[in-house]
Amino acid sequence: MAEAKPDNQPNTGSPQPQYLQALTGQPALVTGASSGIGKATALGLAKAGADVVVNYIGNPAPAEDIAHAIEALGRRALAIEADVSKEDDVERMFAQAIQHFGTLHIAVSNAGLQADAPFDEMTLEQWNKVIGVNLTGQFLTARAAVREFKRRGPKPDISVATGKLLCTSSVHQEIPWAGHVNYATSKGGINMMMRSIAQEVAPLRIRANAIAPGAIRTPINRAAWDTPEAYNKLMELVPYLRIGEPDDIARAAAWLVSDAADYITGATLYIDGGMTLYPGFATGG
Ligand code: NAD
Repeated sequence: MAEAKPDNQPNTGSPQPQYLQALTGQPALVTGASSGIGKATALGLAKAGADVVVNYIGNPAPAEDIAHAIEALGRRALAIEADVSKEDDVERMFAQAIQHFGTLHIAVSNAGLQADAPFDEMTLEQWNKVIGVNLTGQFLTARAAVREFKRRGPKPDISVATGKLLCTSSVHQEIPWAGHVNYATSKGGINMMMRSIAQEVAPLRIRANAIAPGAIRTPINRAAWDTPEAYNKLMELVPYLRIGEPDDIARAAAWLVSDAADYITGATLYIDGGMTLYPGFATGG
């Protein structure tokens, strides 16, 4: 394997963002949008023309800053606090969003977390927390989105699809992950949930897809990239020899929810610099 080069500078080696104005007139909701991939996706969808609901939990300041950045792009934005694992919160958030924007055309269920432990030490609380946010949270978000897409019905002058749902999975829907059984299980569940939803709502011209990131430079995995030693170790798992940046995900998300991707439903797009290519076999195994 080629020697990994430390690459701790944001966006080093990654392309300049390019967004087509493909989402004009399509309000979007992004969960967990006050940091990391969700923040980049909220901004990316706005760059592509969408008005955006910035969902967050906890401190409102970062979400308000992102909403202002979206407004500075000439789009409308609304920051809404909601715990995606709570049904009442999700229902209230969608009601507020729909009252504000009239409808939603795009829902990105991105909120997620980890609560790691060796399997035999994992508490039920750690298990329920991760399943509650990562899987039940995506169920609640998807259900509320599909209900709104059905209520509104087709608007072919806005988008050829009646609605677009984008789940956030992980390479760990495919790669088992010792010490993270709750997290990997939640992502495996997202895969079958998303595909079953896609099968059910396709006749309504509602598309459901997922993005499965590899190692992306965000707060969730800081320990894996914030020292040269950790970064070099990480590169043993990434054939493309650079960490992913949140905007790598955001650009793909903006495309996948646009009409340019109209015939795609039930698909998972891995964005992982080759992490799922079994890099351990690159030198013959
Ligand atoms: P992050 O920690 O920056 O983002 C997660 C966001 O979810 C945070 O803003 C957090 O406040 C929010 N959140 C947590 N619990 C919530 C709740 N109950 N309700 C609402 N929001 C809640 O990390 P990230 O890397 O940007 O993660 C975003 C998604 O990407 C997650 O689903 C994660 O599993 C997935 N992912 C990330 C990576 C990576 O390498 N960074 C890889 C694969 C998958």
